[in-house]
Amino acid sequence: MPDKPKVAFYWCASCGGCEEAVVDLAEAILDVAAAVDIVFWPVATDFKRKDVEAMADRSIAATFLNGAIRTSEQEEMARLLRCKSQVLVATGSCSHLGGIPGLANLCTSEAILREVYFESPSTTNPERTLPEREHTHNDHAVELPAFCETVRSLDQVVDVDFYIPGCPPTPRTFRNALQTLLGGQLPPRGSVLAPDRALCDECPRKSSKPEKLTFAQFKRPTNTLIDEQQCLLAQGLVCMGPATRAGCEALCVQGNMPCTGCYGPTSRVRDQGAKILSCIASSIESKEATEIDQVLATIPDPVGTFYRYGLPKSLLRKRRIQEVPHSSLAGR
Ligand code: SF4
Ligand code: SF4
Repeated sequence: MPDKPKVAFYWCASCGGCEEAVVDLAEAILDVAAAVDIVFWPVATDFKRKDVEAMADRSIAATFLNGAIRTSEQEEMARLLRCKSQVLVATGSCSHLGGIPGLANLCTSEAILREVYFESPSTTNPERTLPEREHTHNDHAVELPAFCETVRSLDQVVDVDFYIPGCPPTPRTFRNALQTLLGGQLPPRGSVLAPDRALCDECPRKSSKPEKLTFAQFKRPTNTLIDEQQCLLAQGLVCMGPATRAGCEALCVQGNMPCTGCYGPTSRVRDQGAKILSCIASSIESKEATEIDQVLATIPDPVGTFYRYGLPKSLLRKRRIQEVPHSSLAGR
């Protein structure tokens, strides 16, 4: 009997939701377990990094890596698994586009450490202690990974063969992707394993989306009574559907919440945030500058709204910030 293909799962800067997505395959996970030999999956099995280092190069058929790259250890593991794998799959928005952790690119790493260790209201740190890269105690040396300056998507660190979108990918998306990859008929390298059309195309409310949208203000789901049938964008809620890849079965819209864009852009869209911005900006009712500003001010967090999952892979990538010298970590 031929050997089963070897498969690995790994997580980097991740919330664990993408690991849950594997478990959410439910009974289909038994088919996966029967079809493959899982050789590395730290969240579920007791394999160590040295086990991967001992494997022959390209001996793993496919590695599914979720989470963004934020630390030196994550970068090292991404490079190691790239070397050991024939196919590397960026799984979930964080790995695909930088994800929600990528919003940290609005701050410097120094500002993040300062907030977490010195300034947040719940922090008590009179010694102003910070994590050390290396520490020796009683002749035992400990080393911590470096905290990198920015959050990166997986393909900003190593070559990636395929992408499974979503935060997290739905069980159906994940199952279809597995079937595609294990079926032997691989799609073109670089493919995102979900339909290459906008979410509006598969949305149950698409018939109520007007040809021409007009906005006098934007509303928030938390303080709006939302009609359960009508297109959410038509109701003045920022729905990312026109700029977002389909494949999630419009689960958020079916739950009466706007799409937040986790499947990323289609292949024809270079910058998902810019795409929805151009759709929205051209549909503001007023043509008077002050009034346009007032309408746009009803979107309180533009970067978190338009680039929630993709800031590191967007044209913007990160924010350039001048540090305030007197409050730097160096002065601690
Ligand atoms: S893509 Fe979403 S579910 Fe997956 S690790 Fe990132 S934040 Fe969590
Ligand atoms: S904008 Fe949103 S609610 Fe409207 S059709 Fe598109 S996905 Fe559906």
